[in-house]
Amino acid sequence: MKQYEMWIGGKWVDAESNKTYPVYNPATGEELTRLPLGGASDVDTAVIAARRAFPIWSKKSQAERSQIVSKIAALIRENAQELGNIDTLDHGSPLKRAAFSAARLSDRFEWAAYNARSLMGHTVPQSSDVLVYLQREPVGVVALITPWNIPLGMIVQKLAPALAVGNTCIIKPPSIDSLQALKLAEILEKLELPPGTVNVVTGPGGTVGHALAIYRGVDMIAFTGSCETGKELISLSSQTVKRLQLELGGKNPIIICEDADITSAATEMMNGQMMNSGQTCAAPGRFYVHEKVYDKFVEACITSIAKNWVVGDPNDEKTTMGPLVSAEHRDHVEGYIKSGIEQGARLVLGGKRPATGPLNKGYYVVPTIFTHVSQKMKIAREEIFGPVACIMEPFSSDEKVLEMANDNTFGLCAHVWTQDAARGMRFSNDLQAGTVWLNNSIGGGPELPWGGYKESGYSKEGSLYGLYEYTNLKRVAVDIRSLKK
Ligand code: NAP
Repeated sequence: MKQYEMWIGGKWVDAESNKTYPVYNPATGEELTRLPLGGASDVDTAVIAARRAFPIWSKKSQAERSQIVSKIAALIRENAQELGNIDTLDHGSPLKRAAFSAARLSDRFEWAAYNARSLMGHTVPQSSDVLVYLQREPVGVVALITPWNIPLGMIVQKLAPALAVGNTCIIKPPSIDSLQALKLAEILEKLELPPGTVNVVTGPGGTVGHALAIYRGVDMIAFTGSCETGKELISLSSQTVKRLQLELGGKNPIIICEDADITSAATEMMNGQMMNSGQTCAAPGRFYVHEKVYDKFVEACITSIAKNWVVGDPNDEKTTMGPLVSAEHRDHVEGYIKSGIEQGARLVLGGKRPATGPLNKGYYVVPTIFTHVSQKMKIAREEIFGPVACIMEPFSSDEKVLEMANDNTFGLCAHVWTQDAARGMRFSNDLQAGTVWLNNSIGGGPELPWGGYKESGYSKEGSLYGLYEYTNLKRVAVDIRSLKK
């Protein structure tokens, strides 16, 4: 496989230390390639380049900037197959879906390019002698620190709006899944971006991410990842009072009422749970099922998994679930399965690696379902980030189930399934989560905001709210009487 360098200041460079680190194919455990092991001095070079590029990029007319950002959308579509192939290789995403997912990201650039052109300010009524207007300006140099679970998607969600409104960016991709970020840089190289407008520095979070967080020349950090790292970034970035956008973990409650369409609920919720091998922040974390339909729901979940989820080589057309991202993460997920069994939850499906065969070298765990999980168990409280559904003990009271659903340090998203509209709306109003789906799990485009409550983070990604995150709001007051002709 191609040996990538880092993309800094419009050039492909090795790490200053000349050191590299290996990345692996999670489906086989084989080394794919080695990447530059960036460090603080590489961050230094990237920040200098991004700062130099900022006045050039931010002073372009919005029309010109938007045209360039639109071209990225077209290039993403052209290169979707290759981007998808990389996702299959280094992340284990089923090939059939990977290229499609990559192509869809072009939408984010198109939306940002278009909407940045209407980023209007306004005037605020004062006296007739004074004009006060508000205008939006780019923040400056933005560090994008992103997770491995949807490697390219998480970068694009930030890069598209940040670039479109005039910021320059330093991408710190996840160490184990950096290849798509470097391929993206290769795509961007074809455009007329001033050198340093986008930079990619590979290497560990503890050094590259840390350096970005404390660097005075970085104006903002846009972060998606775990709560632990998010909390560390709050502390590190406070040294220079940086703006922080935080998209963190979730343990998302799903409420299934006795009047729900059980087959649809089970199918859609298992899809949400098993998609990307369960490595999704929005995956259902805890299922609360009414006692009258408990057994029926569990049965429907098992049937839906048998019908829709085929664990296998991600290159195989039939595969819908590939491996977990790394051996370390597989061990982490297996630790949760062990803990569920030890704490008395009932394992009704899976809980193991695939039977012996070619998959044994990869980092696979089969779809797993626990029932009768109690609120205090570790698997009920912590994010597992694997193909493990936790169906809680049955509920009988709406008031009680709401209390249990909200007894959660996270507040990313929630689902409610009921055919009683008023009951559904009551739950939606009272659930402490940034997004609530009522009888559906419809995904979203760039026009929709996304972001959590509580320890799931703050600020929004997507929509105009998300675009504003990458701007400063300036108030300008003009004494009209002082203006000369
Ligand atoms: P993570 O370990 O927090 O890593 C995220 C990024 O932070 C990686 O690039 C990582 O670098 C870097 N990093 C690690 N330690 C750092 C430090 N001390 N200073 C600065 N940067 C540091 O998270 P993950 O395991 O990759 O991702 C899974 C988490 O992301 C889950 O909790 C999931 O829920 C969350 N997530 C949330 C959303 C959302 O929209 N809310 C979406 C997707 C994922 P290395 O890769 O080098 O460690």
